[in-house]
Amino acid sequence: MKTEIETIRGETPGVTYELIVHRFAGSEDAAPHVYIQAALHADERPGVAALHYLIPMLQDAEAQGHVKGSITIVPHANPIGAAQHLFSNHLGRFSGATRVNFNRDFPVPEADGNRRLDDAGSASFAEKRLKSRLLELADPCPIVLDLHCDDEGLQYLYVPEDLWPEMAVLAACLDAEAALLWDQGSDRAFEEAVFEQMRAKAKASGGDLSGHCISTVELRGQLDVDPGRARKDAEGLFGFLQARGVVTGASTTAPELRQDFCGKPIRNVDMVDAPAGGTILFHVAPGDRVKVGQLLAEIIVSPGVEDGVAKVQATQAGLVLTRRARRFIRMGDNLMKIIGENAVVEGYQGALED
Ligand SMILES: [Zn+2]
Repeated sequence: MKTEIETIRGETPGVTYELIVHRFAGSEDAAPHVYIQAALHADERPGVAALHYLIPMLQDAEAQGHVKGSITIVPHANPIGAAQHLFSNHLGRFSGATRVNFNRDFPVPEADGNRRLDDAGSASFAEKRLKSRLLELADPCPIVLDLHCDDEGLQYLYVPEDLWPEMAVLAACLDAEAALLWDQGSDRAFEEAVFEQMRAKAKASGGDLSGHCISTVELRGQLDVDPGRARKDAEGLFGFLQARGVVTGASTTAPELRQDFCGKPIRNVDMVDAPAGGTILFHVAPGDRVKVGQLLAEIIVSPGVEDGVAKVQATQAGLVLTRRARRFIRMGDNLMKIIGENAVVEGYQGALED
Protein backbone atom coordinates (compact mmCIF):
# COMPACT_ATOMS: atom_id res chain seq x y z
CA MET A 1 0.00 0.00 0.00
CA LYS A 2 1.18 3.44 -0.85
CA THR A 3 -0.13 6.50 0.93
CA GLU A 4 -0.20 10.03 -0.42
CA ILE A 5 -1.25 13.12 1.43
CA GLU A 6 -2.83 15.53 -1.02
CA THR A 7 -3.44 19.18 -0.31
CA ILE A 8 -6.74 20.98 -0.83
CA ARG A 9 -6.24 24.73 -0.79
CA GLY A 10 -8.43 26.72 1.61
CA GLU A 11 -9.97 30.07 0.77
CA THR A 12 -7.65 32.17 2.90
CA PRO A 13 -3.87 32.42 3.26
CA GLY A 14 -2.42 29.82 5.60
CA VAL A 15 -5.39 27.43 5.38
CA THR A 16 -5.05 24.05 3.66
CA TYR A 17 -6.67 20.67 4.15
CA GLU A 18 -5.08 17.24 3.88
CA LEU A 19 -6.69 14.42 1.92
CA ILE A 20 -5.17 11.05 2.76
CA VAL A 21 -5.27 8.61 -0.18
CA HIS A 22 -4.22 4.95 0.22
CA ARG A 23 -3.56 2.92 -2.92
CA PHE A 24 -3.16 -0.80 -3.53
CA ALA A 25 -1.72 -1.25 -7.02
CA GLY A 26 -3.31 -4.58 -7.95
CA SER A 27 -1.45 -7.18 -9.96
CA GLU A 28 -3.84 -7.59 -12.93
CA ASP A 29 -4.89 -4.76 -15.21
CA ALA A 30 -8.06 -6.59 -16.21
CA ALA A 31 -9.35 -6.93 -12.62
CA PRO A 32 -11.90 -4.32 -11.53
CA HIS A 33 -10.68 -1.04 -10.04
CA VAL A 34 -12.25 0.01 -6.77
CA TYR A 35 -12.72 3.29 -4.93
CA ILE A 36 -13.97 3.47 -1.33
CA GLN A 37 -14.43 6.59 0.77
CA ALA A 38 -15.86 7.29 4.22
CA ALA A 39 -17.09 10.27 6.23
CA LEU A 40 -18.09 12.53 3.33
CA HIS A 41 -20.61 13.67 5.89
CA ALA A 42 -17.91 14.29 8.43
CA ASP A 43 -20.07 13.44 11.44
CA GLU A 44 -20.71 9.87 10.20
CA ARG A 45 -18.05 7.54 11.61
CA PRO A 46 -19.09 3.87 11.15
CA GLY A 47 -17.40 3.81 7.71
CA VAL A 48 -14.14 5.16 9.11
CA ALA A 49 -14.20 2.42 11.76
CA ALA A 50 -14.86 -0.25 9.11
CA LEU A 51 -11.92 0.98 7.02
CA HIS A 52 -9.72 0.86 10.12
CA TYR A 53 -10.14 -2.93 9.97
CA LEU A 54 -10.37 -3.31 6.18
CA ILE A 55 -7.05 -1.61 5.38
CA PRO A 56 -4.88 -4.11 7.34
CA MET A 57 -6.86 -6.98 5.80
CA LEU A 58 -5.99 -5.64 2.36
CA GLN A 59 -2.35 -5.16 3.35
CA ASP A 60 -2.18 -8.83 4.37
CA ALA A 61 -3.84 -9.84 1.09
CA GLU A 62 -1.39 -7.67 -0.84
CA ALA A 63 1.58 -9.27 0.93
CA GLN A 64 0.30 -12.67 -0.23
CA GLY A 65 -0.21 -11.47 -3.81
CA HIS A 66 -4.00 -11.68 -3.56
CA VAL A 67 -4.89 -8.13 -4.56
CA LYS A 68 -5.68 -8.28 -8.30
CA GLY A 69 -7.56 -5.04 -8.94
CA SER A 70 -6.30 -1.62 -7.91
CA ILE A 71 -8.01 -0.24 -4.81
CA THR A 72 -8.08 3.40 -3.72
CA ILE A 73 -9.25 4.23 -0.21
CA VAL A 74 -9.96 7.68 1.22
CA PRO A 75 -10.82 7.11 4.87
CA HIS A 76 -11.54 10.77 5.66
CA ALA A 77 -13.21 12.11 2.54
CA ASN A 78 -14.08 15.45 4.06
CA PRO A 79 -11.31 17.17 6.02
CA ILE A 80 -13.16 20.47 5.61
CA GLY A 81 -16.27 19.18 7.37
CA ALA A 82 -14.16 17.36 9.96
CA ALA A 83 -12.75 20.73 11.08
CA GLN A 84 -16.12 22.44 11.53
CA HIS A 85 -16.72 22.87 15.23
CA LEU A 86 -18.93 25.58 16.61
CA PHE A 87 -18.99 26.11 20.37
CA SER A 88 -17.82 22.51 20.95
CA ASN A 89 -20.46 21.05 18.63
CA HIS A 90 -19.33 19.33 15.46
CA LEU A 91 -21.24 20.23 12.28
CA GLY A 92 -20.32 17.72 9.59
CA ARG A 93 -23.24 17.56 7.17
CA PHE A 94 -23.43 21.06 5.74
CA SER A 95 -20.67 23.42 4.75
CA GLY A 96 -20.39 26.40 7.05
CA ALA A 97 -18.97 28.38 4.13
CA THR A 98 -21.78 27.82 1.62
CA ARG A 99 -24.55 26.08 3.64
CA VAL A 100 -24.54 23.34 0.96
CA ASN A 101 -24.79 19.70 2.04
CA PHE A 102 -21.35 18.12 1.53
CA ASN A 103 -23.04 15.31 -0.42
CA ARG A 104 -24.82 17.54 -2.94
CA ASP A 105 -23.82 19.69 -5.89
CA PHE A 106 -20.98 17.53 -7.17
CA PRO A 107 -19.61 19.05 -10.37
CA VAL A 108 -21.10 18.28 -13.75
CA PRO A 109 -18.57 16.81 -16.18
CA GLU A 110 -17.78 18.63 -19.38
CA ALA A 111 -18.43 16.95 -22.73
CA ASP A 112 -15.03 15.26 -22.63
CA GLY A 113 -15.72 13.84 -19.16
CA ASN A 114 -13.46 16.32 -17.41
CA ARG A 115 -14.73 17.24 -13.96
CA ARG A 116 -13.72 20.91 -14.16
CA LEU A 117 -10.86 20.25 -11.81
CA ASP A 118 -9.48 23.21 -10.04
CA ASP A 119 -6.37 24.83 -11.38
CA ALA A 120 -4.15 27.45 -9.86
CA GLY A 121 -6.14 30.28 -11.39
CA SER A 122 -9.66 29.20 -10.48
CA ALA A 123 -11.58 30.96 -7.77
CA SER A 124 -13.98 28.75 -5.83
CA PHE A 125 -14.60 27.35 -2.40
CA ALA A 126 -12.38 24.60 -1.05
CA GLU A 127 -15.30 22.19 -0.95
CA LYS A 128 -15.68 22.50 -4.75
CA ARG A 129 -12.04 21.54 -5.18
CA LEU A 130 -12.53 18.66 -2.76
CA LYS A 131 -15.62 17.38 -4.61
CA SER A 132 -13.82 17.57 -7.96
CA ARG A 133 -10.90 15.62 -6.57
CA LEU A 134 -13.09 12.90 -5.03
CA LEU A 135 -14.84 12.39 -8.36
CA GLU A 136 -11.54 12.33 -10.20
CA LEU A 137 -10.38 9.53 -7.89
CA ALA A 138 -13.64 7.60 -8.32
CA ASP A 139 -14.27 8.08 -12.04
CA PRO A 140 -11.86 5.42 -13.37
CA CYS A 141 -13.40 2.73 -11.15
CA PRO A 142 -16.35 0.48 -12.01
CA ILE A 143 -16.80 -0.23 -8.29
CA VAL A 144 -17.35 2.77 -6.01
CA LEU A 145 -18.56 2.69 -2.40
CA ASP A 146 -19.42 5.78 -0.37
CA LEU A 147 -19.73 4.87 3.32
CA HIS A 148 -22.27 6.87 5.31
CA CYS A 149 -24.73 6.33 8.15
CA ASP A 150 -28.13 7.64 9.17
CA ASP A 151 -29.31 9.18 12.46
CA GLU A 152 -30.52 5.86 13.90
CA GLY A 153 -31.17 3.16 11.37
CA LEU A 154 -30.81 -0.26 9.85
CA GLN A 155 -27.90 -1.05 7.61
CA TYR A 156 -29.14 -0.20 4.11
CA LEU A 157 -27.91 0.71 0.65
CA TYR A 158 -28.91 3.22 -1.99
CA VAL A 159 -28.57 1.54 -5.38
CA PRO A 160 -29.35 2.75 -8.92
CA GLU A 161 -32.28 0.66 -10.17
CA ASP A 162 -30.28 -0.17 -13.32
CA LEU A 163 -27.69 -2.04 -11.21
CA TRP A 164 -30.22 -4.15 -9.31
CA PRO A 165 -30.36 -7.11 -8.73
CA GLU A 166 -26.70 -7.54 -9.75
CA MET A 167 -25.64 -5.45 -6.76
CA ALA A 168 -27.55 -7.72 -4.39
CA VAL A 169 -24.21 -9.44 -3.80
CA LEU A 170 -23.02 -6.30 -1.99
CA ALA A 171 -26.11 -6.37 0.23
CA ALA A 172 -25.56 -10.06 0.91
CA CYS A 173 -21.87 -9.69 1.78
CA LEU A 174 -22.57 -6.74 4.08
CA ASP A 175 -25.57 -8.52 5.65
CA ALA A 176 -27.58 -5.38 4.80
CA GLU A 177 -31.18 -5.26 5.93
CA ALA A 178 -32.59 -3.12 3.12
CA ALA A 179 -31.90 -1.40 -0.18
CA LEU A 180 -33.54 1.64 -1.73
CA LEU A 181 -33.52 1.56 -5.50
CA TRP A 182 -33.47 4.97 -7.15
CA ASP A 183 -34.06 5.89 -10.76
CA GLN A 184 -33.76 9.64 -10.90
CA GLY A 185 -32.03 12.40 -9.07
CA SER A 186 -31.53 16.08 -9.38
CA ASP A 187 -29.30 17.26 -6.59
CA ARG A 188 -26.01 15.69 -7.66
CA ALA A 189 -25.06 13.59 -4.66
CA PHE A 190 -21.70 11.83 -5.02
CA GLU A 191 -23.39 8.53 -5.92
CA GLU A 192 -25.51 10.18 -8.58
CA ALA A 193 -22.55 12.05 -10.11
CA VAL A 194 -20.46 8.87 -10.22
CA PHE A 195 -23.26 6.82 -11.75
CA GLU A 196 -23.94 9.44 -14.40
CA GLN A 197 -20.34 9.11 -15.53
CA MET A 198 -20.43 5.29 -15.38
CA ARG A 199 -23.54 5.30 -17.54
CA ALA A 200 -22.04 7.74 -20.05
CA LYS A 201 -18.90 5.62 -20.39
CA ALA A 202 -20.91 2.40 -20.71
CA LYS A 203 -23.13 4.02 -23.36
CA ALA A 204 -20.06 4.84 -25.41
CA SER A 205 -19.16 1.14 -25.42
CA GLY A 206 -22.58 -0.41 -25.98
CA GLY A 207 -24.39 0.40 -22.72
CA ASP A 208 -23.42 -2.69 -20.73
CA LEU A 209 -23.30 -1.86 -17.01
CA SER A 210 -22.62 -5.39 -15.79
CA GLY A 211 -19.87 -5.52 -13.20
CA HIS A 212 -20.50 -1.92 -12.19
CA CYS A 213 -21.32 -0.97 -8.64
CA ILE A 214 -22.04 2.37 -7.01
CA SER A 215 -23.69 2.69 -3.63
CA THR A 216 -24.19 5.02 -0.75
CA VAL A 217 -23.81 2.49 2.04
CA GLU A 218 -25.65 3.51 5.20
CA LEU A 219 -23.88 1.70 8.02
CA ARG A 220 -26.74 2.01 10.54
CA GLY A 221 -26.78 5.01 12.93
CA GLN A 222 -24.30 7.63 14.05
CA LEU A 223 -23.75 5.98 17.43
CA ASP A 224 -23.29 2.48 15.98
CA VAL A 225 -19.51 2.63 16.09
CA ASP A 226 -17.89 -0.25 17.94
CA PRO A 227 -15.24 -2.91 17.26
CA GLY A 228 -17.70 -5.74 16.62
CA ARG A 229 -19.77 -3.98 14.01
CA ALA A 230 -16.76 -2.29 12.39
CA ARG A 231 -15.00 -5.65 12.01
CA LYS A 232 -18.12 -7.26 10.59
CA ASP A 233 -18.50 -4.42 8.08
CA ALA A 234 -14.83 -4.73 7.09
CA GLU A 235 -15.23 -8.48 6.57
CA GLY A 236 -18.35 -7.80 4.49
CA LEU A 237 -16.50 -5.31 2.30
CA PHE A 238 -13.58 -7.72 1.94
CA GLY A 239 -15.99 -10.52 0.99
CA PHE A 240 -17.57 -8.31 -1.65
CA LEU A 241 -14.15 -7.52 -3.13
CA GLN A 242 -13.51 -11.26 -3.28
CA ALA A 243 -16.91 -11.88 -4.89
CA ARG A 244 -16.08 -9.34 -7.61
CA GLY A 245 -12.60 -10.76 -8.27
CA VAL A 246 -10.74 -7.74 -6.91
CA VAL A 247 -9.13 -9.89 -4.23
CA THR A 248 -8.63 -13.62 -4.71
CA GLY A 249 -9.87 -16.25 -2.30
CA ALA A 250 -13.33 -17.54 -1.49
CA SER A 251 -15.57 -15.15 0.37
CA THR A 252 -16.40 -16.20 3.91
CA THR A 253 -19.36 -13.81 4.10
CA ALA A 254 -22.86 -14.97 3.26
CA PRO A 255 -23.59 -15.08 -0.47
CA GLU A 256 -27.35 -14.95 0.12
CA LEU A 257 -29.52 -12.03 1.15
CA ARG A 258 -30.99 -12.21 4.64
CA GLN A 259 -34.45 -13.75 4.74
CA ASP A 260 -36.01 -10.53 6.01
CA PHE A 261 -34.17 -8.34 3.48
CA CYS A 262 -36.30 -5.50 2.16
CA GLY A 263 -35.36 -4.12 -1.27
CA LYS A 264 -37.83 -1.56 -2.61
CA PRO A 265 -37.96 1.41 -4.95
CA ILE A 266 -37.19 4.67 -3.20
CA ARG A 267 -40.70 5.91 -4.02
CA ASN A 268 -41.99 3.46 -1.39
CA VAL A 269 -40.27 5.41 1.37
CA ASP A 270 -42.69 7.29 3.56
CA MET A 271 -40.88 10.34 4.93
CA VAL A 272 -42.80 10.79 8.17
CA ASP A 273 -42.42 14.40 9.24
CA ALA A 274 -43.24 15.93 12.60
CA PRO A 275 -46.74 17.49 12.68
CA ALA A 276 -45.68 19.64 15.64
CA GLY A 277 -42.55 20.72 17.41
CA GLY A 278 -41.59 19.29 20.77
CA THR A 279 -40.13 16.32 22.61
CA ILE A 280 -40.30 12.95 20.86
CA LEU A 281 -41.50 9.75 22.48
CA PHE A 282 -40.94 6.96 19.97
CA HIS A 283 -43.15 3.89 20.10
CA VAL A 284 -41.30 2.00 17.36
CA ALA A 285 -37.64 1.48 16.46
CA PRO A 286 -35.69 0.73 13.27
CA GLY A 287 -36.38 -2.85 12.24
CA ASP A 288 -39.97 -2.89 13.53
CA ARG A 289 -42.71 -3.89 11.10
CA VAL A 290 -45.72 -1.61 11.53
CA LYS A 291 -49.40 -1.84 10.58
CA VAL A 292 -51.72 0.83 9.23
CA GLY A 293 -52.84 3.12 12.05
CA GLN A 294 -50.16 1.93 14.48
CA LEU A 295 -48.84 4.60 16.86
CA LEU A 296 -45.32 5.50 15.74
CA ALA A 297 -44.50 8.39 18.04
CA GLU A 298 -45.91 11.06 20.27
CA ILE A 299 -44.57 14.57 20.29
CA ILE A 300 -44.98 16.33 23.59
CA VAL A 301 -45.94 19.91 22.83
CA SER A 302 -47.39 20.91 26.21
CA PRO A 303 -46.17 18.53 28.94
CA GLY A 304 -48.82 17.18 31.27
CA VAL A 305 -51.65 19.06 29.59
CA GLU A 306 -54.70 17.36 28.08
CA ASP A 307 -54.36 17.33 24.28
CA GLY A 308 -50.80 18.52 24.71
CA VAL A 309 -49.42 15.65 22.63
CA ALA A 310 -49.37 15.23 18.83
CA LYS A 311 -49.72 11.57 17.84
CA VAL A 312 -48.14 10.18 14.69
CA GLN A 313 -49.64 7.03 13.19
CA ALA A 314 -48.60 4.81 10.28
CA THR A 315 -50.45 5.54 7.06
CA GLN A 316 -49.51 2.16 5.59
CA ALA A 317 -47.85 -1.07 6.61
CA GLY A 318 -44.10 -1.19 6.33
CA LEU A 319 -40.64 -1.49 7.84
CA VAL A 320 -39.17 1.24 10.06
CA LEU A 321 -35.87 2.09 8.37
CA THR A 322 -34.58 5.07 10.33
CA ARG A 323 -35.54 7.50 13.04
CA ARG A 324 -34.26 10.80 14.32
CA ALA A 325 -31.49 10.54 16.88
CA ARG A 326 -32.15 13.74 18.83
CA ARG A 327 -35.39 13.78 20.79
CA PHE A 328 -36.27 17.44 20.20
CA ILE A 329 -37.81 18.30 16.86
CA ARG A 330 -39.27 21.18 14.88
CA MET A 331 -42.57 20.99 13.05
CA GLY A 332 -41.87 19.67 9.53
CA ASP A 333 -38.54 18.02 10.32
CA ASN A 334 -38.19 14.35 9.47
CA LEU A 335 -39.15 12.01 12.28
CA MET A 336 -38.56 8.66 10.57
CA LYS A 337 -38.39 6.82 7.28
CA ILE A 338 -40.65 3.83 6.70
CA ILE A 339 -40.37 1.53 3.70
CA GLY A 340 -43.97 0.91 2.70
CA GLU A 341 -45.40 -1.98 0.75
CA ASN A 342 -46.53 0.43 -1.96
CA ALA A 343 -45.26 3.60 -3.56
CA VAL A 344 -46.20 6.65 -1.53
CA VAL A 345 -45.12 9.13 -4.18
CA GLU A 346 -44.63 8.91 -7.95
CA GLY A 347 -40.93 9.53 -7.48
CA TYR A 348 -38.46 11.59 -5.51
CA GLN A 349 -36.57 14.22 -7.44
CA GLY A 350 -33.20 13.84 -5.81
CA ALA A 351 -32.36 12.87 -2.26
CA LEU A 352 -34.91 12.07 0.42
CA GLU A 353 -33.71 14.87 2.68
CA ASP A 354 -31.56 17.98 2.77
ZN1 LIG B 1 -24.28 10.78 5.02
